[in-house]
Amino acid sequence: SDLTTTILDRIRDVPDYPRPGVMFKDITPLLGDHAAFSSVIDALADGLAVDKIVGIEARGFILAAPVAYRVGAGFVPVRKKGKLPAEALEASYDLEYGSAVIEVHSDAFSPGDRVLIVDDVLATGGTAQATVELISRAGAQVVGVSVLMELAFLNGRDRLAGVDLRALVVV
Ligand code: IMP
Repeated sequence: SDLTTTILDRIRDVPDYPRPGVMFKDITPLLGDHAAFSSVIDALADGLAVDKIVGIEARGFILAAPVAYRVGAGFVPVRKKGKLPAEALEASYDLEYGSAVIEVHSDAFSPGDRVLIVDDVLATGGTAQATVELISRAGAQVVGVSVLMELAFLNGRDRLAGVDLRALVVV
């Protein structure tokens, strides 16, 4: 579709970032193009009826906040450990080397809030899986995970069984 082409033309492959052997998908050309950025936000927001949009630090914030504004929902940040000022719940997950811990404020949700998680890229799915678990523990209902781009060869989708995962483009 036109949207697929718009996105693919504006995501840049950066070799050996952040480590040798990794091909990093850089969304900054897309963000810098008003027409492309707004088409992406409209597509992510299409048909949504939710109470909160969760953005995953850091590029997820850039997409999730305008989606929240567009659909009339609140915005909730999920951050790396130690960044949130008030009482927080945490979830840890394994990385290729070591592990990571993410947090959300304990009072971010009302019981039963319907929540959509937004991020830029789904790679191994570890971050999204940990976020789903964290939000469920915080008392909200995850209605789905939406990403700009899914890297299918990393099989992240397999870690999100039972979750409505949507990607604007799959590569
Ligand atoms: P995962 O946990 O392996 O699925 O990695 C997803 C997280 O890492 C997301 O928060 C992404 O923002 C980030 N990420 C992984 N690979 C890329 C990439 O190629 N471009 C941009 N972000 C990436």
